[in-house]
Amino acid sequence: MVPRDGKELARLHLRLRACTRCVAAGYLDTAAPVVAGDITDRVMIVGQAPGVVELTTRTPFSGRAGAELRRWLARAGIAEDQLPYRTSITKCFPGKAATGAGDRRPSAPEVALCAPWLEAELGLVRPRIILLVGTLAIDRLWGPGALADVVGLSKRSPALGGALLIPLPHPSGASRWLNDPRHKDRLERALRLLRRAWRALPPVDCAGRVHPRR
Ligand code: SF4
Repeated sequence: MVPRDGKELARLHLRLRACTRCVAAGYLDTAAPVVAGDITDRVMIVGQAPGVVELTTRTPFSGRAGAELRRWLARAGIAEDQLPYRTSITKCFPGKAATGAGDRRPSAPEVALCAPWLEAELGLVRPRIILLVGTLAIDRLWGPGALADVVGLSKRSPALGGALLIPLPHPSGASRWLNDPRHKDRLERALRLLRRAWRALPPVDCAGRVHPRR
């Protein structure tokens, strides 16, 4: 297998962080793309889009929802110093929803404009586990399905090199789905799946080469 190329990923991040496609197309006033991660990351988190906090920090999942997500990761055995690759379906803060409840869901044309970035990230990092956080990421990489039908399940994606897909709800405090106690069991199942898959990952060296466990 071709070794993962860290320099190529660094070049991709430079180009991505300079992207203004959605401004040129009239969807955003300003572009501030947010992404973080390393070529050796075996787990990739794909969210919907950065929030207003990330607009300032320029670090994915650094707001309140991100803190909750990191607590979920910790429960699955992934420590703060092992944070996975973090990206999203669209990489810029889309603004608040017109209803005032949460952030605006990026439109289909915005998703299409940003899609080549995610495809390039997936092609270079080649993660073994992909956490799909929220319905937009689930729709895009798992396929259509209600949260209550897919959270707690996992499946391998032949199109993504056999990566294990694990859907999660969005950890935002605004998520009504999460506030329903009937869904807590589904979240626990998803975190158990993540813990098992994380523990089974073979180690990688600093060049991203995988070494099977002896
Ligand atoms: S959302 Fe994606 S395509 Fe649009 S400006 Fe930001 S990085 Fe570029």
